Amino acid sequence: MNRTAQLPLPLFRDYPRLKDALPHIALGIFPTPVERLPSLGTGVDRLYIKRDDLSGSVYGGNKVRKLEFLLADAQRGGAREVMTVGFAGSNHALATTIYAHQMGMACTALLLPQLNARYVRDNLLASFSCGASLRHYRTPTLLGGGILACMLRGCLRHRVFPKLIPAGGSCPMGVAGYVNAALELRDQIVAGALPMPDRIYVPLGSMGTSVGLALGLQAAGMKTHVIAVRVIEEHLVSSGKVRDLFNATCKLLRRYDPTFPEISYSPDALTIRNEFMGDRYARLTESGAHATELMQEKAGIPLNGAYSAKAVAALLADAKRGDLEGKIILFWNTYNSRDLDRFTKGQDYRRLPQAFHRYFEEDVQPLDRPAIRY
Ligand SMILES: *Cc1c(COP(=O)(O)O)cnc(C)c1O
Repeated sequence: MNRTAQLPLPLFRDYPRLKDALPHIALGIFPTPVERLPSLGTGVDRLYIKRDDLSGSVYGGNKVRKLEFLLADAQRGGAREVMTVGFAGSNHALATTIYAHQMGMACTALLLPQLNARYVRDNLLASFSCGASLRHYRTPTLLGGGILACMLRGCLRHRVFPKLIPAGGSCPMGVAGYVNAALELRDQIVAGALPMPDRIYVPLGSMGTSVGLALGLQAAGMKTHVIAVRVIEEHLVSSGKVRDLFNATCKLLRRYDPTFPEISYSPDALTIRNEFMGDRYARLTESGAHATELMQEKAGIPLNGAYSAKAVAALLADAKRGDLEGKIILFWNTYNSRDLDRFTKGQDYRRLPQAFHRYFEEDVQPLDRPAIRY
């Protein structure tokens, strides 16, 4: 399927019993490159980027690693359709649609309302053109939001229930993808691609990326500290929820391979940063817009105003305060950088369900400047 499909995952190589127990299918291109970044005026001269934006040949970003486990699990269970949940501009819904289709499964995405931005339009059009069945989703409860109705509809269509993939793919089996990512990074350090970072900056959404990295780094005995920059409201993402996901993932891995170390969550496993989100999810911020312009101009890397821009904004703010002096810093790039034009060109939004038209007819946020490609 791709050039590295034959290489064993670091997670399976280090914990061979997991290989027999956990479903996995190679969908992406791994390991993703590590590159050096210009200092971006931070004074940090050892600044690196982990290019998870290149994790897939048609669509990259951080969801691919999770989907390699989750879609394999759906397929193993005989699913013909997967269903997932996200906000209207969900990168996760798009990734799930693309890779489920590649495996011959349909995808229904239940999408919650959110603030408008240009990337929302792109993702809606791309998901639609890749065959997603898009549904407007108002109340995030099992019974109220129409999940049950969609499950039944899917069951009638395919004779088996659709497999539910949680928001952001952040259940323990999906998080295993980021435990693996930490071991992949360790291998790259051993191979000399970069020195051991003191800190990793990453956005904190449904938590799977940060939690998997923190658990994997500890399993590998690395001292690298995860700075998780929260981009979603606190009632959805908190240190308690981070702890639960961390412990549940460790438990899952130990159940199938008891040689995986027993690590219980401690608050210094990762640091949650709260001051870069803005007033709500997907609010584009001044510091994020500045980070986006800087990264585009100096490194040619597109950031996403709802996620990765906020992680870079935190990095820049910490550098400005002098906290990063002499440190080795890694920015973990979670946002896709593959061109979506081929999916969006010539698509007419009026073919989407009516509830999504407003994202195309109403203005985007003032900070969503046309000069910036999100
Ligand atoms: C989903 C997403 C995140 C958040 O990752 P989680 O694992 O959900 O915390 C970060 N950046 C981008 C671009 C995303 O799409």
